[in-house]
Amino acid sequence: MELPMLRRKRPRFAEYENKPPVSRKNCLASPKTLLDTKHLRPETSCVHPCTHKPEYLTDNKHFFDQISSWSDTDFSVKRALEHYNHRKATREVFLDDQVNKKFLGFHCDITEECGAEEKQHSWAAIEKREEIVMYGPYYPNYNSGDHSEDVIIRQTQELLQSDEFTQDWKVYVFTMNSPCLARNTSSCMINLVQKAHEWWSVYGVRTHIGFMRCWGFKGTKENLFREVDYGQVDCINQTQDHEDYVKAANTRPDLNPLCENVSSAIKHLLRSVNLSFSLKTLVQGQDWKSYFKNMHCVFECEPDDEKKALTQKTSLMIEAAQARLSEESRSFEGHLESGNEFALDYTFGPQGSDVLHEDMRLTFQRSWQEMVQDKYAELIRGKLTDDFNQCVIQLFVTDFLECTNNFLHIGRIQLSNEDAVEKPNPLTRSQGKRLRH
Ligand SMILES: [Zn+2]
Ligand SMILES: [Zn+2]
Repeated sequence: MELPMLRRKRPRFAEYENKPPVSRKNCLASPKTLLDTKHLRPETSCVHPCTHKPEYLTDNKHFFDQISSWSDTDFSVKRALEHYNHRKATREVFLDDQVNKKFLGFHCDITEECGAEEKQHSWAAIEKREEIVMYGPYYPNYNSGDHSEDVIIRQTQELLQSDEFTQDWKVYVFTMNSPCLARNTSSCMINLVQKAHEWWSVYGVRTHIGFMRCWGFKGTKENLFREVDYGQVDCINQTQDHEDYVKAANTRPDLNPLCENVSSAIKHLLRSVNLSFSLKTLVQGQDWKSYFKNMHCVFECEPDDEKKALTQKTSLMIEAAQARLSEESRSFEGHLESGNEFALDYTFGPQGSDVLHEDMRLTFQRSWQEMVQDKYAELIRGKLTDDFNQCVIQLFVTDFLECTNNFLHIGRIQLSNEDAVEKPNPLTRSQGKRLRH
């Protein structure tokens, strides 16, 4: 299979010019001797201050402990939820300025050559002594189950193997969404971190992983907030605390109480965040029509010719309601009110009985209410998921920071200052703070 490969070589900066080339033999030792010879490596002019700790063995044990802990998805989801709920994790995980600049430079080159891309994709760059080699972009292949990071790992491995002098090279891995943490096989994040460890041990190469969005446990594997529907949100909203909520939920036939960490997360969200939204953005096409299916039940028993006229009337009403939707954000209550008002003000025309029209009005209101409730719950699930996974990445980066500091940096890429001023997101509790190493 031919992979799309963009390889650009360019002279690199003169940082290393006066350094003698180091033979790869020095680092091609067994993992055991590597630990012993690590301090013999010449100090490099890495863009970040790298500390050499004497406790290699402790570091290694810590590293493998973290790997096995994060490979246990159920365990780490629970632990992250705990953190999320106690707001222990509140920092953003930006890369440090100089690494960020490197990524921005590469990003510029890729965008120039391949155009801007919002979808998940990855590319990478190897910074050698005299040149930089870039490869990608790669896209996930969902048919074969290949994630874009799988290709990056294979390509990087190949490039490192094919050269004698890899000492002091740097690998930069870009991925739009942070590497996944849950998958049927081992996750991309774990794969990359393990590879970074191997590349450092065997080739003396440092790895940097930069991303634009926090992905975490998202995807088919995540079901943490799947049961958060409007009934749950409403029940949590109307109760004081978790104990109260569980009591109330048990009296409602359709509610299974959520666990305390999830219910408190929702409570916090409801209290602290402006949850307004635009229906026009959230409901589209067939989705919109399906909410008003029930209106046809109103006149099901009418004679056929009546039914035809009434069907047309219903369509007109639904279309009119849709045409009135605006991009403007409104609160949950605001949306309910506007639907009610619309139904009350709507005129059906001369034909048809008043009783039928009243029924249609009521059914419209009920359908509208159900739609607004669904979309409100969807919004809350989305916010919980985003917020939680941002916390997951923060926890992951912090967990690995100490034991991988010598060879691996992971963080979110900040675009230039203008772009970094994002639309105000009321959910962001975190204070932007760079992790220094
Ligand atoms: Zn670095
Ligand atoms: Zn992945």
